[in-house]
Parts: sequence; structure tokens; C-alpha cells
Amino acid sequence: MCRSLTTQSKTEPPAESLARACPVCLRANAEPFWHKGELRIVRCLACDMVYVNPAPAGMASGDFYNTEGAAYYLSPAKLASDYAPVRYARELRLFREFCSRGRVLDAGCGSGGFLFQLRQRWPHAYELLGTDVSGAPLDYAESRGVAVARGSFLEQHFGDCPFDAITLWAVVEHLACPRAFLEKAHALLKPGGVCFVLVPNLRSLAVRLLGVKYRYVYSQHLNYFTATTLKQLGETVGFEIVTTRFTHFNPLVIWQDGRGGGREVSNAERGALLQQTTAYKQRWWLAPARWAYGLTERTLGALGLADNVVAVLRKGQGAI
Ligand SMILES: [Zn+2]
Repeated sequence: MCRSLTTQSKTEPPAESLARACPVCLRANAEPFWHKGELRIVRCLACDMVYVNPAPAGMASGDFYNTEGAAYYLSPAKLASDYAPVRYARELRLFREFCSRGRVLDAGCGSGGFLFQLRQRWPHAYELLGTDVSGAPLDYAESRGVAVARGSFLEQHFGDCPFDAITLWAVVEHLACPRAFLEKAHALLKPGGVCFVLVPNLRSLAVRLLGVKYRYVYSQHLNYFTATTLKQLGETVGFEIVTTRFTHFNPLVIWQDGRGGGREVSNAERGALLQQTTAYKQRWWLAPARWAYGLTERTLGALGLADNVVAVLRKGQGAI
């Protein structure tokens, strides 16, 4: 069901698309939720999961990320942002809380920024490997000394030595079949190993204020999780839920998207804003503003209104 591509008639939206059942409970009983341009987003009547149906073929297959998408990940603005020390500060803090050493796989590693920072800060604690469907960003990761495995995560073999931790930072929202990815992650972990899943939060302040005008309601995002549906997905696959947290807050995005009225934001603009935000976080003279920003982010996090939700999942000790 997951990979059934259907060709639509000439009066329908262009090219091929993938008809999907609910990515969490696999039922096919959903009602319209949002639409934005040609994008149709529905809500599962059984479990409340919100997802794109049908999915554009290039997004569903992942081909987009090895073609047009790759240029974005290699743009100077995106690379500068991904390799800035502050970029993965929140993810690193959370990661260290639950994994202090061992074998780590970053699935959907892009240009390798997270693994690079992990090695920079704790050079002897981890054995690191990144994987991604997008080839050119992996070339860049390798050039920065990050070990990579190429190709589709679902089709790769990673040897007999299981991992202590697997990270999926902003990956699962892009996947046509997130269950299959989490099942594979579960299989690749040691008993007691942890999996970190970060996705945009459908209950964020940004979504509440902007709705469908929010820039991250777009064709690359096929799944729109709340903390509840993310936990359901983890449990369905057999993980124990260790914790869920809410992180990140970008007021510039809310301001821009509120003014822009839902117009499409180009990858170049996304990259430029990321770089600008990263620069603000590093300027010493903005320390008071950063303090106020940090307080706002923590408050929104405590209220479940921050931009992203992260689930920390554990493979049971008795699991195989
Ligand atoms: Zn469902």
C-alpha cells in the first residue's frame, strides 16, 4: 500500500502521486483538514493523525532530495547554519542526557552537521555514522570527516553490530512510510538503545497563529504530528516512550509568514533566514534579547507550544 503509485488524469494535479493510508494506524478513513495550493491534507478519524494524501511522487520516493532538494542542503547559507556551533545545541543537550557513549547512527544526516558537532564536543565518546538518500550533502559530510553510508535507509545493511542510539532529526515528517523507518531503527538498536525523533509540532504557537499560512505546511512535509500521534507511532512499532519534549521557537518565521499571507517561501529564503537566526544567536551584544528569547522558548516548551516536538524512544531490554 505504501508504495502504490497512481497516475492521475490530465484534469487532476500534475504527474504521479501516492495514495496513502494513515501513516500511524494504517487505516484509510480520513476527513479533509487543510488544503494549500495542490496539497491535500487530511485527518485520520481513527487516531487524529494529520497527513498529506495523496503525496507528490517525488516526495514520496525521496527522489526530490537527491535532485532539487540537494542544492538547498549545499547552499552556503544552509551549510553555514548547519555547521554553526549553536545549530544543534538543543539536540546535543537532549542526546547527551540519554546517550553518553557508543555507536550512533544519524539517519537523514544531510551534510553531517549534527555528527560533526557531536564529535567536536566529545571526540572519544562515540563511533559515528551518517546516512541519507541525498548524495551530494554526504560528499560534503565526508569532506568534514563524517563517516557515511549511502542510499535508502530501508534498503541498507549496517552489519551485525547494533547501535546504541539512532537519531532522526527533522526526517520523519518527510517520509511516506514513517512506520517502516521506525521499525528499521528499532531492529538496528541494541536492547535498551534509544531513538530520538524530532518533528514539527502541529500544536505549536506558530501553527495556531498561522494555520495553513505557515511555511512548513508545504509539499516536503507529508506528516504533521502532535506529541500524542508521535508517541502512538513509537508505541506501534514497539518502542517504550522515555519522554517527549518541545523545542525551538522562531518568531521571525511567524512575523514573516504572517505578513506574507501564505505565499510560497523559496529554499533560498529559508536558508537565508536560518543563517540570519543562527547569527543572532551568536552576537554577544544581543545577549539581553537572547535571554528574553530563551525564556520565551522555555515557556512555550513547557506549554507544549514550541515549534518542534521530540520523542525519546527506547527499545525494551527484552526486545530483539
Ligand atoms: Zn490513524
